[in-house]
Amino acid sequence: MEKIQTLIIGSGPAGYTAAIYCGRSGLKTVLYSGLQPGGQLTTTSTVENFPGYPQGVDGNQMMMDLKEQAGRFGAELRDGSITKADLSSRPFHFTDDNGREIESDTVIIATGASAKYLGLPDEQKYSGQGVSACATCDGFFYRKRTVAVVGGGDTACEEAMYLASLAKKVYMIVRKPYLRAAEILRKRVEEKENIEILYNTNTLGLFGENGVEGAHLVRFKGEPNEEKFDIAIDGFFLAIGHKPNTELFKDSGLEMDAQGFIKTKGNSQATNIEGVFAAGDVCDPVYRQGIVAAGSGAKAAIEADRFLK
Ligand code: NDP
Repeated sequence: MEKIQTLIIGSGPAGYTAAIYCGRSGLKTVLYSGLQPGGQLTTTSTVENFPGYPQGVDGNQMMMDLKEQAGRFGAELRDGSITKADLSSRPFHFTDDNGREIESDTVIIATGASAKYLGLPDEQKYSGQGVSACATCDGFFYRKRTVAVVGGGDTACEEAMYLASLAKKVYMIVRKPYLRAAEILRKRVEEKENIEILYNTNTLGLFGENGVEGAHLVRFKGEPNEEKFDIAIDGFFLAIGHKPNTELFKDSGLEMDAQGFIKTKGNSQATNIEGVFAAGDVCDPVYRQGIVAAGSGAKAAIEADRFLK
């Protein structure tokens, strides 16, 4: 059994920042990077709003830099995942995907969040054949073609703008009569000539012989003026928000909200279990920003250090 002081689960801005701080505090720290090393920012093209990069920075590059910085101060960075977590008594007990068992005095959960889907059977049917939740990962396949983005928030606008730079035409499928995105993003999509915004519109299904060829839509669903129509598209991109990655802790006694976001205490990163801290999108249903995640990772590490001392 390996014995450590702090286990960090997750390798986004929250996890790596926590590792920098834990390493500098001299804590025996191990970080598991999880299934998506570097986290969600590795699926972004340019990050323009992280302070310190006046020209913006490539998301992958930023996460490689953060990883290098995290490794400099002594935290051990491991590929792979934690598959079992027992938080019922301290030290906490964990098992990784190689069967290695770890005992840790504290844990910082920074497992992030994952994209949501509408729940239509067609999303599964056409998975990898035209359905995607990551424009920057898959947009390349739709050069000079027609795609749709579902959602009206910041993510949807960013994805639509990115796709509009590659594709011939981009539809935005927005269920409300307005976009809820920030003003600057809203203006960009409204002014982009190859983006068409379909307001008050929901998706009923997808169709196509070999992959997505179109979507069945409905405007003013349930209203007297309800209208069903189809659009021809080659790609269908989801941008309707994210769900926290907290499956591992489902029966752990950790307090979560109705959506599964870990609850932290007031202005702290502490959870309802002493010695367990959470940082980043896994406990943040509101801001979802790299800089906020990094800040909360620093807080979690400082709190873990104080707790141990
Ligand atoms: P949001 O929750 O803000 O927006 C989700 C969008 O998807 C909304 O338009 C919502 O519609 C729509 N939606 C949700 N469920 C469905 C459904 N079942 N069917 C159809 N439409 C649906 O998520 P985002 O990912 O856009 O953003 C999350 C957070 O991250 C926000 O705080 C945002 O500000 C931040 N963010 C900031 C960025 C930046 O500053 N550059 C970039 C990306 C994200 P409705 O409005 O009707 O609820």
